[in-house]
Amino acid sequence: MKILVINCGSSSLKYQLIDSESEKALASGLCERIGIDGRFTYKPDGGEKSVTDIDIPNHEVGVKLVLDAVANPKDGVVASLDEIGAIGHRVVHGGEKFASSVKIDDKVMAAIEECNDLAPLHNPANLIGIRACQAIMPGVPNVAVFDTAFHQTMPKEAYMYGLPIEYYDKYKIRRYGFHGTSHSFVSKRVCEFLGLDRKKSKVIVCHLGNGSSISAVLNGESIDTSMGLTPLEGVIMGTRSGSIDPAIIEFIAHKENKSIDDIMKVLNKDSGVYGLSGGVSSDFRDLGKASDEGNKLAADAVSIFSYSVVRYIGAYAAAMNGVDAIAFTAGLGENDQKVRKQIISRLGYLGITLDEEKNKIRSEEVVISTDDSKVKVCIIPTNEELAIARETVEVLA
Ligand code: AMP
Repeated sequence: MKILVINCGSSSLKYQLIDSESEKALASGLCERIGIDGRFTYKPDGGEKSVTDIDIPNHEVGVKLVLDAVANPKDGVVASLDEIGAIGHRVVHGGEKFASSVKIDDKVMAAIEECNDLAPLHNPANLIGIRACQAIMPGVPNVAVFDTAFHQTMPKEAYMYGLPIEYYDKYKIRRYGFHGTSHSFVSKRVCEFLGLDRKKSKVIVCHLGNGSSISAVLNGESIDTSMGLTPLEGVIMGTRSGSIDPAIIEFIAHKENKSIDDIMKVLNKDSGVYGLSGGVSSDFRDLGKASDEGNKLAADAVSIFSYSVVRYIGAYAAAMNGVDAIAFTAGLGENDQKVRKQIISRLGYLGITLDEEKNKIRSEEVVISTDDSKVKVCIIPTNEELAIARETVEVLA
């Protein structure tokens, strides 16, 4: 079966068409600037990437462009749209309502909508994408795959904040965690790769990208993760602050005469390694280059980031009473050997030693700890689209 995987933002729509038998992406691309002007990117597997400036007034038009492209006689990848058996949608927040992926019907749509408050930037956009697919491909089943679902196995100790219980009762304020599709995919894959029994394993996944989160996966289930009610909590990120003393918000508000909205923008957009480096960049490639050229703020930003990851690894090794494997994934985790080295060099207490040569490898499955290392450290490339396609097939089976 061919699965169309859709990841909708408020003005964007990323897509991949995946063959569920070969697990290959047949085509991929992106609709950008939806409702503004519009740009459409399409790349068939093994073919040329094309970028077209074309009016995309809404997501339905975006979905139509995707379907026209994949079935185009010139460089399309399917002979007929009937070959598309299902659509898998990334949905950011499933609250406490969804602990696994589900086939979408009216009730599911209403339940996703009820989670809008928890992810006001993401869930409404995800719903728009689902509605667009329902309108254009009636009869083709849609499946929702939630970023939060994998972390629904967390125990209360891990997901409750030390706040008055009424806020949980009234608003369901608690830790949810994100990047669940990636944490699930990578924690499973690292066990297969190392020949570990997943049901008896202690794995820490470091999903390090523009947004970063760490998870503790015990016997195949997430028992703790660094992101919280929103993706702002946890380790320092590209432009997000990660965890801070909440009293800092009041302090800045008074000193700088800022509103809550202003400060939330600072914490989401102006902080992280971007803010720490004095605005050099949120991209670790730029920070690495600036550090090499002697920019002390850029070098410090990267070290402070790495240390924030080290803290979570220590906490999660404690939470699981040990760790068998640590997996690095996502843009930064898969590619940046310097960051990995900074983190791993502080894990000697776990009996971990880094194999410096293996650590130079990028974006492929590899063990980067030495043979005698007590805990195996690996790079495991994530593939969220494939994970969504697999879930879609499983839900519909
Ligand atoms: P992601 O959010 O997973 O797409 O990761 C994006 C981040 O990964 C970028 O902001 C970069 O900081 C980082 N990244 C991607 N490629 C490299 C690379 N070759 N070397 C270092 N960092 C990289």
